[in-house]
Amino acid sequence: MKSAATSVFIISAPSGSGKSTLVSGLMSGVPDLTFSISYTTRPPRGNERSGESYHFISRDEFEDRIDRGEFLEYANVFGNYYGTNRSSLEDAKGRGLDLVLDIDVQGAAQLKVQIPEAVSIFVLAPSRQILEQRLRARSEDTDEVIRRRLADAAKEIRNYSAYDYVLINSEVEPSVRTLAAIVKAERARRARMEDRIRPILATFEAEAL
Ligand code: 5GP
Repeated sequence: MKSAATSVFIISAPSGSGKSTLVSGLMSGVPDLTFSISYTTRPPRGNERSGESYHFISRDEFEDRIDRGEFLEYANVFGNYYGTNRSSLEDAKGRGLDLVLDIDVQGAAQLKVQIPEAVSIFVLAPSRQILEQRLRARSEDTDEVIRRRLADAAKEIRNYSAYDYVLINSEVEPSVRTLAAIVKAERARRARMEDRIRPILATFEAEAL
């Protein structure tokens, strides 16, 4: 059982590191989690539909939302805006769930300033060669895009040291188990358990009287 307060789990990775597979494995294997659906100006890929992986909106709408202060964090990634709506966190709190965010290193840094107790996890492909193979295997991108993603990955991975955990994603199943273990261990931290400890202590105190 989880503690009463909402914990925030940030997962970042260069594209092609297999992060979305890991995140869906985590979401289906661990209870009381909710995924933050980001807003983006990038066009949908393949059979992505608005409201599932992302809310797809126009640049104008995104900028209006920035002006209205609706984002907890936002960043420009590969020339498109991506942002986390404040309501994701409020909704998770209202439902007593922990929040999982799949956001880039810029967004993770912004969130850590606002929510220092957020837990951050950096997912790393085992090598550049394997990352390239994975990007080519999903055959969604042109050669030029793949080259840019690899160059961006080389820059992004330098930020690993700002994260609490690093997960080297060699194989999906063990990686999902590690992610689940991180969530469970973080939930058991004393600081996150205070709300549940107090009533237990109260039962012992009542007995002592
Ligand atoms: P993709 O377009 O491949 O789905 O995502 C590109 C990058 O944007 C990924 O690194 C992903 O983690 C990041 N991203 C997705 N949503 C958000 C968000 O709400 N905020 C930030 N800062 N990055 C995001």
